[in-house]
Amino acid sequence: MPPATIGGTAISRKVAAISESATLAMDRRAKALRAGGASVISFAAGEPDFPSPEAAVEAAVKACRDPRAHHYSPTAGLPELREAIALKTRRDAGLTVTSDNVLVTSGTKQAVAHAFTLLLDPGDEVLIPSPYWVTYPEAVALAGGVPVAVPTDESTGFRISVDSLERSITNRTKVLLFVSPNNPTGTVYRRAQMEEIGRWAVAKGLWVVCDEIYDHFTYEGIQFLSLPAVVPELAARSICVNGVAKAYSMTGWRVGWMIADAPVIAAGINLQSHVCGNISNVSQFAAVGALDSGLATVDHMRAAFAKRRDLIVEGLSRLPGFECVPPDGAFYVFPSVSGLLGRKVAGRLISSSLQLANLFLEEASVAVVPGEAFGAAGYLRFSYALGEGEIEEGLVRLERLLA
Ligand code: PMP
Repeated sequence: MPPATIGGTAISRKVAAISESATLAMDRRAKALRAGGASVISFAAGEPDFPSPEAAVEAAVKACRDPRAHHYSPTAGLPELREAIALKTRRDAGLTVTSDNVLVTSGTKQAVAHAFTLLLDPGDEVLIPSPYWVTYPEAVALAGGVPVAVPTDESTGFRISVDSLERSITNRTKVLLFVSPNNPTGTVYRRAQMEEIGRWAVAKGLWVVCDEIYDHFTYEGIQFLSLPAVVPELAARSICVNGVAKAYSMTGWRVGWMIADAPVIAAGINLQSHVCGNISNVSQFAAVGALDSGLATVDHMRAAFAKRRDLIVEGLSRLPGFECVPPDGAFYVFPSVSGLLGRKVAGRLISSSLQLANLFLEEASVAVVPGEAFGAAGYLRFSYALGEGEIEEGLVRLERLLA
């Protein structure tokens, strides 16, 4: 087969096969329309709308003036940041870890990519609960693995079960990806379900990669739990990823991390030493500032998201053709819009959620991400990381369009 070409340049087949992140694409379209003067309400962005904590900004300013921060630093991360992450992980996830179990990465996205590169040989399969965050299948494929979607729907609150996993496992399965709270569904798993899933993974000799980036965003008293803390036999075969992006509203600073057994971290340090050397020191000091500042800013955001969640769930449930499972966590709602498929909206026959999302943007200046981006046609993802006034305005526009 000749090499794939993009714009006349030879590009490897594995990279040419990557599609653009649909969430970023929709957000980009919304921002471009806004820049052109349109008043767009964007439910598309996957990031909190709060400023980063003052403590993070102050620490960064100080770091800029400190020559220690001007030069290469340890590939694993600054010792004080690894310490702060270990402490945070003991407190929030209940895992028994020290800084030897921490590798600081350039955002959680890089921790996800590293995790699959560390674990997968060509052809190894990864079970990915679907709907899934767009990056997982691409990261698995780039690492030479094969993504295998484990389908879920609203009948189980979008939860995988041992039964659905049994249907998807093969003799090539090496890893189970576990995400709670979930993007895009907001699903948070309870202890009993996690015990079953974790014990099944132990029995099958699988590794687990746990994405815990939304750990602080759970509502109505539902508790975040870390899978290897619930099933400690998994600890030696798990990689947990997290970061400051969501909890501290620090998406732009690009600081994440992975937590794993020390030998896995040692291999991760080797990998990272050839990929990016070290993460920006200024950002790392900012992350230390955020983590050391405690949970007041996080609690403030969670309280705001809890109110917005109620507002948007209530508003979406009123829209004709929408069916909404109230999300337990994260800051997304993932309603089914199958009731609108095959119907006319604004004079146009709607045949897919992708088409509906485009129509919302064109006719109502409302940006949402179509379920197709998450392997789940027939749904739309609404982020509620935007002000209550904007949420209300967006809902009014949709109500008008669908009336
Ligand atoms: N995991 C999940 C589930 C996410 O939703 C995101 C961001 N959208 C990330 C990881 C990446 O986070 P970061 O900005 O730290 O790379």
